[in-house]
Amino acid sequence: MAPSCSPINSLHVAVIGAGAAGLVAARELRRESHSVVVFERNTEVGGLWVYTPQSEPDPLSLDPNRTVVHSSVYDSLRTNLPRECMGYSDFPFVPRPEHDESRDPRRYPTHREVLAYLRDFAREFKLVEMVRFGTEVVRVEQDGRKWKIRSRNSDGVSRDEIFDSVVVCNGHYTEPRVAQIPGIDQWPGKQLHSHNYRVPDPFKDQVVVVIGNFASGSDISRDLTGVAKEVHIAARSKPSETYEKLPGADNLWLHPMIETARKDGSIVFKNGKVVQADTIVHCTGYIYHFPFLNTNGYITVDDNCVGPLYKHVFPPALAPGLSFIGLPWMTLLFTLFELQSKWVAAVLSGRVTLPSEDKMMEDTNALYTKRDANGFPKRYTHRLGVVGQAEYLNWIADQIGEPPVEQWRNKELEDGYVRLATQADTFRDKWDDDHLIAEAYEDFLRQKL
Ligand code: FAD
Repeated sequence: MAPSCSPINSLHVAVIGAGAAGLVAARELRRESHSVVVFERNTEVGGLWVYTPQSEPDPLSLDPNRTVVHSSVYDSLRTNLPRECMGYSDFPFVPRPEHDESRDPRRYPTHREVLAYLRDFAREFKLVEMVRFGTEVVRVEQDGRKWKIRSRNSDGVSRDEIFDSVVVCNGHYTEPRVAQIPGIDQWPGKQLHSHNYRVPDPFKDQVVVVIGNFASGSDISRDLTGVAKEVHIAARSKPSETYEKLPGADNLWLHPMIETARKDGSIVFKNGKVVQADTIVHCTGYIYHFPFLNTNGYITVDDNCVGPLYKHVFPPALAPGLSFIGLPWMTLLFTLFELQSKWVAAVLSGRVTLPSEDKMMEDTNALYTKRDANGFPKRYTHRLGVVGQAEYLNWIADQIGEPPVEQWRNKELEDGYVRLATQADTFRDKWDDDHLIAEAYEDFLRQKL
């Protein structure tokens, strides 16, 4: 798959979404001489990082006809990774000199600072001119060798347009996954998903059970300790005898998963402890969702495995006309968005070629076989992990003739995850990898020279 010498094709490309993935996709596609239209149903760029105090009317988001709120960001959210490793390669996420209240110079800044960074990025590269705001894509389907997109604007007016290619960047933190709890139908308390959590105030003096102990579960449970009477975390990954009082608060406990929920309002954990709870908050993740996509059943989402997709991006039988940016997780996301976008742009222009459909399918099946042999469930298909992510990103970089991802960036991710898991109450303000920060800033300075 070496870069080819054939002439560059300039195509008409639709990008769905103007979040962190769609913005960089638009930039890279235009850099490669494609003409680009970005469809964005919101009224501004930034995607998930556009905080809104509004949540969905159905607190578990189970009603398919509900009004969807895109963002899952809560008011107190600060990034879960250090800022140096979060930015795009040539537009570092560094504190800006502006003295604006929305800015936050800390290493793990608030969601407002990430949104400000994405706005700066869009402004710097004049991306907004490519975006059609307030325009939702409601259908995507093949039309001969091209693609037909039906969109609807904020006045409800529908429009069909033909594109050579469609790049899907619609995000995957909006459609909640909810835990299955024995007895829950009879349990009289309230339930919500973290997608609909914004501030702790409504939980004043309550006993709250938070399911899930990764980034959102850990954050939200600590956010709640300031107002709730007690907070109990139920963690699937913990052994059944687990019962720990967690540091940083005097009303926070860690348990294994819930055994059962009872009619009398009590929750029984697998360690035998029983609490009388008012609310359960499901911090149990999200599912991939492409309600607009019609591929006659070729692409499916099965237990959160989107497929078949070659290297998580191209559906072999529909490539390169259709592609997906940003599906993998446990990785350097902005770096991934950028590299995947460069790859898609170069494949579309003909500068880089893909293997045959059969070879792509073979590779995709090999990934599934490896996943099954390692005992991972399907929903882990797009989980890259610390080692896998570096290999994956460097593989794409190699395809498009880019240098491998900086070592400091990979190490910041790795150390960041360890801190998050081992010092959940302090990881954003205490660290011991100043040498990595120094390396990052040396790199940023070198870029400027
Ligand atoms: P999004 O930001 O979700 O953007 C998708 C866009 O597509 C949206 O603007 C949406 O309106 C639009 N859209 C969707 N459907 C349609 C449609 N049919 N028609 C038109 N437009 C549509 N990552 C980090 O790197 N660091 C962090 O600290 C971090 N913290 C996180 C905290 C939380 C609580 C969550 C949920 C995620 C976090 N992430 C973090 C991951 C985050 O999702 C990514 O960083 C990234 O912002 C996702 O970008 P995206 O463009 O893929 O999706």
